[in-house]
Amino acid sequence: MKEAKDNRIIAPEESTDDPGLDLSLRPKRLKEYVGQEKIKENLDIFLQAAQKREEPIEHVLLYGAPGLGKTTLANVIANELGANIRITSGPAIEKSGDLAAILTNLGEGDILFIDEIHRLNKTIEEILYPAMEDYALDIIIGKGPSARTLRIDLPRFTIVGATTKVSLLSAPLRDRFGITYHLNFYEHEDIEKIIRRSASILNIDLKETSAEEIARRSRRTPRIANRLLKRVRDYCEVKSGGLINDVHCRAALEMLEVDELGLDWIDRKILETIIDKFQGGPVGLNTIAAATGEDMSTIEDIYEPYLMRLGFLDRSPRGRVATASAYEHLGRKKSQDKLI
Ligand code: ADP
Repeated sequence: MKEAKDNRIIAPEESTDDPGLDLSLRPKRLKEYVGQEKIKENLDIFLQAAQKREEPIEHVLLYGAPGLGKTTLANVIANELGANIRITSGPAIEKSGDLAAILTNLGEGDILFIDEIHRLNKTIEEILYPAMEDYALDIIIGKGPSARTLRIDLPRFTIVGATTKVSLLSAPLRDRFGITYHLNFYEHEDIEKIIRRSASILNIDLKETSAEEIARRSRRTPRIANRLLKRVRDYCEVKSGGLINDVHCRAALEMLEVDELGLDWIDRKILETIIDKFQGGPVGLNTIAAATGEDMSTIEDIYEPYLMRLGFLDRSPRGRVATASAYEHLGRKKSQDKLI
């Protein structure tokens, strides 16, 4: 099933053909960062205050679904402060020595971005506590009764942590972040703005109505919006010499099998399984996973949140239930005994 997921055009995670695109499209400064107005306003004050005091900023925790701009925001923070940024991730720091090497190589005021911070292992997390609180690294030298702790001072740096699952973060780690921002799914107009901005950077001749059409199918996620734009551009380069008109835009999106609400074949398969095989539910997550061949955690973390946001799926104590809107969207009729 991995293959199917890798090919999924509306996967919110980064895919192998994104990086080059991501770098050129990534906003560098706060004023280029579209949407998330409250966070931007708050961050602006907070950055200016820290700069006035000539102090490094407090540690920042960013959480929200994949593709909403956490990495981008971490880079924006570094750019606004004129600070260096080091980028790593929870699973990449395997041994305490890895973290010690990263921390001792930081300079005063540097930003350390730790993506997927909820995946740090517990021993490493504990090394991070004094580093975050006192800018110190405690190293244990030797073993058994003769073991000693050596404390090394670290430069005053800032951690920007990002996570898609804040609930998996331990309380002591969460408490050490001075500031926490929750990134929400974007407003439709903001996604349109992002598409128009990306089109102008990529020199794509895009009509207003086509930008709207792509935005509607982007699941309110900038990464998906940029990816769809790129695929539509490819299609139109071949079919209409580069001009993206509404007919070609729609044809490209239909070819990609992303429907007008941004659902793809896996979303539809999940709903169809619940409706056609289990009379609309309730049905357990493990049953859906077995019937669709998808991973349970992928269904729970990636597919379900969007289906629930559209009001197509409910989570009940007895399992997942397809709603009347889901029946309608898939053109299914609800049987009478289900209409209670
Ligand atoms: P995350 O780290 O949350 O998975 P990223 O920061 O990598 O997401 O963002 C994915 C892509 O979406 C970026 O390359 C960037 O081009 C685009 N993007 C994200 N947020 C914004 C934004 N607020 N304005 C414009 N583009 C954005």
